[in-house]
Amino acid sequence: MKSDRTRSQERILQLLKQCERAISAQDIYVELRTRDRAVGLATIYRALESLKLEGVIQCRTLPTGESLYSCVQADRHHLTCLQCGQSIAIDECPVEQLEQRLESLHQFKIYYHTLEFFGVCLTCAPKDVDNIDDRAQVAKLHHYHSHDRSN
Ligand SMILES: [Zn+2]
Ligand SMILES: [Zn+2]
Repeated sequence: MKSDRTRSQERILQLLKQCERAISAQDIYVELRTRDRAVGLATIYRALESLKLEGVIQCRTLPTGESLYSCVQADRHHLTCLQCGQSIAIDECPVEQLEQRLESLHQFKIYYHTLEFFGVCLTCAPKDVDNIDDRAQVAKLHHYHSHDRSN
């Protein structure tokens, strides 16, 4: 399977594997050009398309219409703020079991799924918001993360 890939496909896949976050075709173009040899944007789009069909990379589209690519191994979901556009990655996959169930139920090999949450972040939320419970949840989450880091 690996030998069927073109050089460009391999390089793009390697690049995505090294990336912590999902990146756009434009980012890939810039990154490859600074690294070694430039690859045309059309070639990048073609390579991304084949890698997507192969099931090794996934694509998510932002509210702005921009497509971001990442390795399928990175099963990451995001909370995206509609006000400032910031995306917060969440470390759990809420549909992992659903995916397994659907695979066996429909005899279908699932390569990847997308799941996005949209709303407003703490910074952008109206200050006089009366939903105290939500804020308490956020505070707890912050506490959890700082605790996690100190270990
Ligand atoms: Zn925001
Ligand atoms: Zn997931």
